[in-house]
Amino acid sequence: MTAARSEPRPAATILLLREAAGAGPAVPAAPEVFMLQRTSKAAFLPGAFVFPGGALDPDDASERALRRVRGLDDAQASARLGIPAGGLAYWVAAARECFEESGILLAWDEHDRPVPPERAAALESLRAPLNAGTLRFSEFLEREGLFVRAQEIAYYSHWITAASRPRRFSTRFFLACAPAGQQGAHDRSETVHSVWVSPRDALERGRRKEIELIYPTHSTLADLAAMRTPREAFEHARRLDEIEVNAACWALDHEGSLRLFRRADPPYYEIHWSDPEEKGDTCFVIQPGIAKRLDRLVTRITAPNPGMMTGPGTNAYLVGRRDEGGALAVIDPGPAIDSHVAKILEEGAGRSGSRIRWILTTHTHPDHSPAAALLKAATGAQVIGMPRPEHGHQDHGFAPDRVPADGERLQLDGCALRAVHTPGHASNHLCYLLEETRMLFTGDHVMQGSTVVINPPDGDMRVYLASLERLLALNAAIFAPGHGYLIGAPQREIRRLIAHRLAREAKVAAALQRRGPSTLEELVTDVYDEVSPRLHAVAMRSLAAHLDKLVAEGRARRAAGRYILSADERSAP
Ligand SMILES: [Zn+2]
Repeated sequence: MTAARSEPRPAATILLLREAAGAGPAVPAAPEVFMLQRTSKAAFLPGAFVFPGGALDPDDASERALRRVRGLDDAQASARLGIPAGGLAYWVAAARECFEESGILLAWDEHDRPVPPERAAALESLRAPLNAGTLRFSEFLEREGLFVRAQEIAYYSHWITAASRPRRFSTRFFLACAPAGQQGAHDRSETVHSVWVSPRDALERGRRKEIELIYPTHSTLADLAAMRTPREAFEHARRLDEIEVNAACWALDHEGSLRLFRRADPPYYEIHWSDPEEKGDTCFVIQPGIAKRLDRLVTRITAPNPGMMTGPGTNAYLVGRRDEGGALAVIDPGPAIDSHVAKILEEGAGRSGSRIRWILTTHTHPDHSPAAALLKAATGAQVIGMPRPEHGHQDHGFAPDRVPADGERLQLDGCALRAVHTPGHASNHLCYLLEETRMLFTGDHVMQGSTVVINPPDGDMRVYLASLERLLALNAAIFAPGHGYLIGAPQREIRRLIAHRLAREAKVAAALQRRGPSTLEELVTDVYDEVSPRLHAVAMRSLAAHLDKLVAEGRARRAAGRYILSADERSAP
């Protein structure tokens, strides 16, 4: 069973915000948002509470309409939306839908003054011909001498309805502060109820099942609930630099049942990567012993060694042109488990023997490299990686045939991998960038679903953070980690990881400040207070790594088994 797919229609939605009544100098001006209830007879989302919006109209992209927009040209608007051209029409659509569905006229006169409430009320009667299509919005703006000020309408988010839904929209959400005094009212045809509501109240009513909120509405309300004022929300939207698409997707479980995934779900990016045409025929379950074809160049085989430190198991990746019979590389052969090695050999088998020519390792922890020796014995492939370090729990049998230099390009059969030295989790850690697709094999430098353990002395937090910074410059399209699913939006993920480590570091410094000289055991309960005590032994290793970094930077010192914050750090605010 696969999901049928139709092209989503372009659409615009407007989040109109105003200050709650009763706001004043003493009362914070919490935002309220304008919402409509769709009629139970509507073809799309009957009965749901939504924000005003709808599909783009051909008139929105007309010369006449675009002449009525100020503040952005089509090239700028398109760049903001990440499309080649036609972006400005979305701003027109947002303003048009706003007036048609809410009666709020998000327009300005030739002196850039917003439409006052009396004038909006006088123009209210034109909503019917606009809704009926007998009056064009461009004509209306022209006749009334009004403009759409694009800089007052901030692009906020992008949602695409999942494939297989009967009606699909690719909807750009915009956010604007409602013009002062305009109350708005629903149009009584498509919508039956309208309300200014605080995002928190709307969520609460949704939770109590008094109103129906679809996922994008719910998610947007949750974002807005964190905003203190309409202006703060608007400025936040205006400053967003990467607006990522939310395209719910379908994938199969191992029994063949379809399931819907959102961007927050771990398999989301992998499903999109391995099913770019949204056929809904890819399986989202990571199963040891079942090879997963990720794209035309890469297949993943997960080892049967699941656990607390390994997630679903260690991922081995087979890299090369599978269909064309070329030679293949294996990245991270994994633990020396016979069934796993047999599976890799089976996947790498060609008509005249094995096609595996290269075995690459990211590092020599025992869950990543021991199968290299077995695979080499079976195939004669060359083993490429850095020798095992002195410290830490390592694969003692590891003996590379070749040690790649940092940045060295490894030419395979029809594709190339670039070695990137990324010490931190292990001093001999390498990532590999597949140049053709910009997939970066991250080993344990970046893992999906859990934080990487930095275990001194071989693990080094300072070096780890510097290695993360290095990855930003690679501009990878996706990460293929040693454990778990593919990781999307890699730049954002790296920034998140760095911020997470620095926040933990700040917590370490604060705990030292509060407690005075402390041992690791005393600090771990303070610094990892959100972590289950059964994980404290592991957390203590990362804590030691944080403390080592502070010591190396002169921000703390160690004496008689206790860590002490340096005088400079203590006096810091
Ligand atoms: Zn490791």
